[in-house]
Amino acid sequence: MLPEGIRFVVIGAGIHGLSTAYHLARELKASGSGSGSDILVIDKKAIGAGASGIACGVVRNNYYQPAMRELMAHSVSVWERHADTLSYHAVGYMQISPESMHTQVGTIYEQEKAIGYPSVFIEGEEDCERYMSAMFDDWQAKNITSVLHEKKGGYANNMRSLEGLSQLARSEGVRIETGVKVVGFERANGASSAVRAVVTDKGKIACEQVIVGVGPWVKQIWDMLGLPDAITVKGRDGKLHDGRQMWTFWSLQEGTLGVDPSRQKTNDGKMPPVIHVDTDAPLYSDIDGSLITDKLWGIYYKPDFYFGGVQGGAMPYKIATDPDKVAVDPYGPESPDFIVGEDFRRMWCSALAHCQARFMGQSIKYRDEPSGGIGCFTPDNFPVFDRFCENVYIIADSNHGYKMVGVGELVAKELLGEKSALLKPFRYSRYAEGDLHPVSNSPFPWS
Ligand SMILES: Cc1cc2nc3c(=O)[nH]c(=O)nc-3n(C[C@H](O)[C@H](O)[C@H](O)COP(=O)(O)OP(=O)(O)OC[C@H]3O[C@@H](n4cnc5c(N)ncnc54)[C@H](O)[C@@H]3O)c2cc1C
Repeated sequence: MLPEGIRFVVIGAGIHGLSTAYHLARELKASGSGSGSDILVIDKKAIGAGASGIACGVVRNNYYQPAMRELMAHSVSVWERHADTLSYHAVGYMQISPESMHTQVGTIYEQEKAIGYPSVFIEGEEDCERYMSAMFDDWQAKNITSVLHEKKGGYANNMRSLEGLSQLARSEGVRIETGVKVVGFERANGASSAVRAVVTDKGKIACEQVIVGVGPWVKQIWDMLGLPDAITVKGRDGKLHDGRQMWTFWSLQEGTLGVDPSRQKTNDGKMPPVIHVDTDAPLYSDIDGSLITDKLWGIYYKPDFYFGGVQGGAMPYKIATDPDKVAVDPYGPESPDFIVGEDFRRMWCSALAHCQARFMGQSIKYRDEPSGGIGCFTPDNFPVFDRFCENVYIIADSNHGYKMVGVGELVAKELLGEKSALLKPFRYSRYAEGDLHPVSNSPFPWS
């Protein structure tokens, strides 16, 4: 039986909903103003039924946007705090780039130094080659002129972290109910006023505050709240651009090469950092030598016992369909529309072979199983963390978010009245004010 009323209703049992619930419970207890029993998490399907449950799980700092970097550094500290419970592997992360990205990645390195985030930066083709070959004797990626090696970060095992987070939340007295779908909101005083109750398919729950952490379904909740589909954005040109779509969908391309993960150990027998390579070297099929692309391309990969192979992905693509018509359900591997196909296998496996000789001719071991999923992106592809309709806090991470486990801690404080300097650059008002984040040269919309 759902309660008829509770102080905090969290919608979505993904990384953000669970993290917020856990941290909020602790904040309430610490301040003597309540406890986990004031919080209910509801999910229409199950814990980890969304993007968090299928995420590659990469945790990094590497962002061209200073505000993102500071936020990521905070999240890394939360991963480290609960490393075992959240199944976090602190193997580090490498951004390996061509000349067109050299200066920008150099800036990232300088700013990581400034915030005390440990990394090394290698410059010049020969030094990069030497650095990478000392780690992997079969390294052969072309046109690489900088390597940023972040000593922190790494990856976590998606469902295991969510199980860990739910345990943490439940241990604080938070209640998690699955199979409960939000279908609307009851307002206190007309269309744009505060939410008085969350309406679900199992009944109505009166509440003081609502927290929305629904990942790719954010547009649905946004629409239920009557928030605008199109907004005005003040561009970098200083002009106002009306009618910009609030939400767009991208399809994430990921898969697993079914080889022994130990095969990707470093020369000294250690588990390697997560590797992210962007390059403008032409990419040829390692099977028939045909040209795949002569444009900038990028991949990331890691050996992962949880996925049972070398797992990773490539650049996503923007879904051209009208966002109102994009079928978010069935989600992830169950989707008939948004799972990766032969093009991904050919590109990603050839790209692995381009980077390391050990992967040459291995594409037959690619695991032919449905993978990938969609993400819902904001107008500038960066998160929106903000309060709407007086008492609804929306965590819309624009698909950056599995790594952002710490956002829940910051949101919890904001829910209780504290303002977070780390969250401030992610307010919705930045679009109207033109206070946008800088844009990088990376081929990924989230870098
Ligand atoms: C293939 C893929 C790989 C990714 N890899 C990475 C990565 O390596 N690193 C990284 O940082 N990020 C990664 N991401 C992005 C990251 O997974 C997401 O940004 C993040 O998990 C979103 O978390 P969330 O808690 O907001 O939402 P989700 O995890 O999507 O959870 C939302 C939950 O809300 C529930 N829900 C939805 N609508 C309703 C409703 N009406 N009523 C009740 N419940 C509802 C859903 O059932 C779901 O369980 C990846 C994403 C994808 C798709």
